[in-house]
Amino acid sequence: MNRAESAFPGNHRDVPLAMDAPAFRSLGHALVDQLADLLASVPARPVTHDPSPSEVRRALELDGPLPEEGCAAGPLLAETASRLFEHSLFNGHPRFLGYITSSPAPIGMLGDFLAAAVNPNCGAWTLSPAASEIETQTVRWIAQLIGCPAGTSGLMVSGGNMANMVGFWTARAAQAGWDVRAGGVAAGPRLRAYASAETHTWIQKAADLAGLGTDAVRFVPTHDGLRMDVDALERAIAADRAAGERPFLVVGTAGSVSTGAVDDLPRLAALCRRESLWFHVDGAYGGFAAAVDGAPAELRALGEADSVAVDPHKWLYAPLEAGCALVRDHDALLKAFSYHPPYYLLDERAVNYFDLGPQNSRGFRALKVWLALRQAGAGGYRRMIADDMALARVLADEVRARPDLELQTVELSITTYRCLPRDLRTRAAENAVAEYLDALNRAVVERMQLGGEAFVSNALLRGRYVLRSCVVNIHTRASDMAVVADVSARLGRELDATMRPVALRPGA
Ligand SMILES: *Cc1c(COP(=O)(O)O)cnc(C)c1O
Repeated sequence: MNRAESAFPGNHRDVPLAMDAPAFRSLGHALVDQLADLLASVPARPVTHDPSPSEVRRALELDGPLPEEGCAAGPLLAETASRLFEHSLFNGHPRFLGYITSSPAPIGMLGDFLAAAVNPNCGAWTLSPAASEIETQTVRWIAQLIGCPAGTSGLMVSGGNMANMVGFWTARAAQAGWDVRAGGVAAGPRLRAYASAETHTWIQKAADLAGLGTDAVRFVPTHDGLRMDVDALERAIAADRAAGERPFLVVGTAGSVSTGAVDDLPRLAALCRRESLWFHVDGAYGGFAAAVDGAPAELRALGEADSVAVDPHKWLYAPLEAGCALVRDHDALLKAFSYHPPYYLLDERAVNYFDLGPQNSRGFRALKVWLALRQAGAGGYRRMIADDMALARVLADEVRARPDLELQTVELSITTYRCLPRDLRTRAAENAVAEYLDALNRAVVERMQLGGEAFVSNALLRGRYVLRSCVVNIHTRASDMAVVADVSARLGRELDATMRPVALRPGA
């Protein structure tokens, strides 16, 4: 008997992962039915459920060993789906307003399903002809939506951090003045990057991973509105040049994480042009607001940046993961990442995306974004984003209307506020009171996050702890904003009654 016949009698192969078309159809339908019911039930569920990691492990029976024997796919899928629904945090809940994590568009969920089924490897064009071309169009549409010039290049990445890092690495290769990819950063003068003190932590990771070290980043102070002090930036650049160092990159923020502040991008762009520095904009949160009338005018200068990071899994409502790095000059991307000559097919230039970024094999992240852009259109997106910003102002009104809450800031779709018992209002600047208010508001956030009625997070404003609501959520309604304000005020009153130090009580 030959080897084939002895190992595979009758050409049969027993595949534990096999699922024939009828089985796939019936399991797929059952899962979709279950998901449709569960999704419809989200608004009536708590935003989140389990307080501790061990409780989650117990509920999902996650402590066991890897089973030697497999199990039937149908019950496995059905049980997993319902357990995930019982024990997850729902960023698709209408009152999930924490951090900057959007509700996923339903077409995006289906898009990821479709993408996984086709399973193109979007590293090489030949392995993903349709998918690579869809990615190219998606990048082009995103660039167009936020006002970047025609011809802007870029690629889909996992999220804002990676999109910003692509900008950082591209700037490093373009600006070093020596072959920094071959010789490393030690082969030239010290490279310096400049970013405001409000910049997201990606900048530390980027400086570290690019070999510059986090000390290479100059954190420029901000003004009261939490925008970068451009005069201080100019002084820092001049001082570093005078010391023989090499400034290469200025990072502007289009929508800071804490309050949604937008740096003076036009002035930063002009400064970078004058100083021959790479201008990168972190628009992971606020970049897409550039599409909307009534957004801060500074966002118009996004189109002047050398590179921009945006995050479709934020304000394009794509399910995680989807980030997008935009780079004005396609050749700069190649110069930063490629190890191959340009690739041609039948006399046409074809994009191999592994030459434009850090990844080799790549999934089809663009599909869910492309489908959503087509379903809603640019106009539909403008409406959804503008509505999110309007909801932030509705929350501000609700906060103003409650005597035990105090509004702090409203920018883009972020509202910050705090609980401030009315009898302490005139004393809020006293040290002991300010410290107590920090503790009270921290307790309110913790209680709210566990309670499940609504979910906001926090920000530090000039060192003070405040509540922070960010709307990137297609399910949120105006009425939800009233509920969030009510819950905040109620928790503030309840906790104030038990937490207030004797010395701060009325009549003390
Ligand atoms: C969210 C965010 C990031 C990081 O993006 P991820 O998608 O979480 O990796 C960076 N910068 C800003 C301004 C952000 O809002």
